[in-house]
Amino acid sequence: MLFFILTECIHFSFAQQKKIRVLVVSGGHEFEHKPFYDVFNSIPSITYDTLVQPQANALISSPEVNRYDVLVFYDMFDLISPTQQEVYINLLTKGASMIFLHHALVSYQNWPEFIKIVGGQYHTHPVVVNGDTLRASYEHDVNIPVKVEDKKHPVTQGISDFEIVDEVYGDVEILGSVKPLLSTTHPKSMRYLAWINHYGNSDVIYIQLGHGPSGYSNPNFRKLIQQAIEWSAKQSKK
Ligand SMILES: [Zn+2]
Repeated sequence: MLFFILTECIHFSFAQQKKIRVLVVSGGHEFEHKPFYDVFNSIPSITYDTLVQPQANALISSPEVNRYDVLVFYDMFDLISPTQQEVYINLLTKGASMIFLHHALVSYQNWPEFIKIVGGQYHTHPVVVNGDTLRASYEHDVNIPVKVEDKKHPVTQGISDFEIVDEVYGDVEILGSVKPLLSTTHPKSMRYLAWINHYGNSDVIYIQLGHGPSGYSNPNFRKLIQQAIEWSAKQSKK
């Protein structure tokens, strides 16, 4: 019996050690906390801490950042010092894992490198891209048909085309170099709803879905977030 208890303890602590350590960053945009964090509570392979900006950028700029395997950004923030900008770039040059969700696409309007990191940006003011004027827009509570662009990728495998009630963003700038994971034909939405963007030595993931509870509770959204974190953690080279 004692042996059984001991092996169970060892097994338990081993399982604890192997969990992916995630930092979930928010700040700058309201959201319903309980249903949002339930997405992360439902993922058995992770443990996570939460931090609100500007504290998150302060931690990311300190050695404390090494406590985490994956940084998940659900912030919408504009304040970032030149030193903190360098920290993001250095982390990604080392191969750190970063996942940007939903309104994180609106962050750092005045930091030109940010679009190169995420692979796209929701510009809050009209911009001219390749001769077209982009006027970014959003609409809530839209029934969105979602197509899985790459059914074999570890982030999207096992997910069939699905529908989700969520917010759409329109007229967003997306770099031509991104590797699309999800798309939609909804006329008010940008074409791609999730992608991978290579930056430095990192494969940065962006997922547009996830405005509120109707998105958070969608099983396809949850599977996507879980697989994104698990794949991203495996890619981590830092
Ligand atoms: Zn939103």
